[in-house]
Amino acid sequence: MKINGGVPKTMKALVAYDKDRYVLEQEYPTPECGPDDIIIKTEACGICAGDLKCRHGAAMFWGDETQPSWVKPPFIPGHEFFGHIVELGENVKDFTLGDRIIADQIVPCGECRFCKDGHYWMCQPHNIFGFQNTNNGGMAEYVRFPKNAVISRVPDNLSLEKALLIEPYGCSKHAVDRGSISPEDIVVISGAGTLGLGMVTYAKTKTLKKLIVLDMIDARLEKAKEFGADYVWNPGKMDVLKAVNELTDGYGCDVYIEATGHPSSVIQGLSMLRKLGRMVEFSVFGAPTTVDWSIIGDRKELDILGAHLSPYAYPYVIENIANGVLATKGVVSSIFPIEEWEKGFEYASGKYGDFKVALTFE
Ligand SMILES: [Zn+2]
Ligand SMILES: [Zn+2]
Repeated sequence: MKINGGVPKTMKALVAYDKDRYVLEQEYPTPECGPDDIIIKTEACGICAGDLKCRHGAAMFWGDETQPSWVKPPFIPGHEFFGHIVELGENVKDFTLGDRIIADQIVPCGECRFCKDGHYWMCQPHNIFGFQNTNNGGMAEYVRFPKNAVISRVPDNLSLEKALLIEPYGCSKHAVDRGSISPEDIVVISGAGTLGLGMVTYAKTKTLKKLIVLDMIDARLEKAKEFGADYVWNPGKMDVLKAVNELTDGYGCDVYIEATGHPSSVIQGLSMLRKLGRMVEFSVFGAPTTVDWSIIGDRKELDILGAHLSPYAYPYVIENIANGVLATKGVVSSIFPIEEWEKGFEYASGKYGDFKVALTFE
């Protein structure tokens, strides 16, 4: 028998039918709660760069001549969401009605080699919320958390603005951890959007020599400074390569974390790193990067490290957003009701100076 807190049969939901057909449905079927499932009533859902790229028909989602389509429409977008439990399957033991919860973006299969050896975030089938109708996302009044969802509790007194940063800051933490920062390191973070700012505030919890943040937008750099960056430099206005060399006796930085998704930032990082340095790539790109790979081997013997999603990060991030160790002020800059989702997507592009934009359902 299911425990049901009175979930209606239909809900408001933003539904992606095709790359150019996103529709706000007023009476979309509410997700069914299976014996192992949890249904939450969504409080809010952040809009991610990935959601924007998908909305604009990027080939990595919808496919083209060279790659197959990966999305499964009709689906409900959004993976940065949380809410209170309103319905529980009979086999769910660890949660009760009313618990405020959030899940990792990936729903691990639990059976592939990566799940079995603890690398659940690289699960082979790779089912994630918000791109496929088997795991509909948070731009709807209700969302189903299936059996294998990686669920964390969100304190009831954590503000909406702070809770919205759990998912992005989880990704930021993982990317910084991949850089294995040590006390002697001069670290460069390229890109001061929401993810970059999460990296800045998390990197500042570590002992390091200097933290440099690069961005083409001065307002973002100001925020990075507020969050603890030692130097904030605009590559559009100064020779940042020269500045890093001056600061490092000509050696270059020790760690470069790429969070812009622009090929030029990759090339900049390869040039800026010292020999034997470490580069972390977090972003999703809209275009290929062309570079002479000799710099990786022959010239510098670099470590190139990828970072994806937010493995094992939520408990730390939730605790340290709540206690203020991780700075969050002003990052969630605009919240719109779901009716104004188009405006939300427009603001999320950053063209009005926003960092994180979210949708609500109240
Ligand atoms: Zn995201
Ligand atoms: Zn798996």
